[in-house]
Amino acid sequence: VTATVHDTAERRLRDAGQRYTSQRRSLVDLLARSGHPLTLPDILRSRRQLKQSSVYRNLADLEHAGVVRRVMTDEEHGRYELAEELTGHHHHLVCARCGTMRDVDVPDDVERSLDRSLDRIAGRAGFASVSHRLDLIGLCADCAATA
Ligand SMILES: [Zn+2]
Ligand SMILES: [Zn+2]
Repeated sequence: VTATVHDTAERRLRDAGQRYTSQRRSLVDLLARSGHPLTLPDILRSRRQLKQSSVYRNLADLEHAGVVRRVMTDEEHGRYELAEELTGHHHHLVCARCGTMRDVDVPDDVERSLDRSLDRIAGRAGFASVSHRLDLIGLCADCAATA
C-alpha cells in the first residue's frame, strides 16, 4: 500500500475533523490490498482482533470522510472499497450467481469513448460534470464451470 493512499486518507479525515487512528489505518490497508470490494463479514474475518461495532462505526466515519465508498450489490449488505481518488477509476465484474466481485480496468480509449457518449446522453437531460459507475454482470469462472 503506497504512502499516497494513507496521506490522502489522513487528509480527508482531518478535513472531516477526524483522526487517522491505527484501526482506521488498518481498515484502509485491508481494502487497499484486497483488489475487490469486501463485505463486512470479509472484513471481520481478516481483522479478528477488532469488534464488529467499532469496525462498522469506523467504516461509516471513513465513508463520511470520502475515504471509503459503499458499493451497492444485490446482497443484503453492501460491500466496501476505497474511494476512487485513492485507487483510481475502475469497474466491477460481478457474478450473477454467487455475488463474487472483482475490480476490472477498462482500456483508456474505451473509457474516453464511454465518457464522450455518456456526456452526450446526460447532457440531453441537462446534467453536467458526469462520471459513471458501470458493473459487468456475468458468471465467474467457478460458477461457469458448474453451470
Ligand atoms: Zn460465481
Ligand atoms: Zn469507467
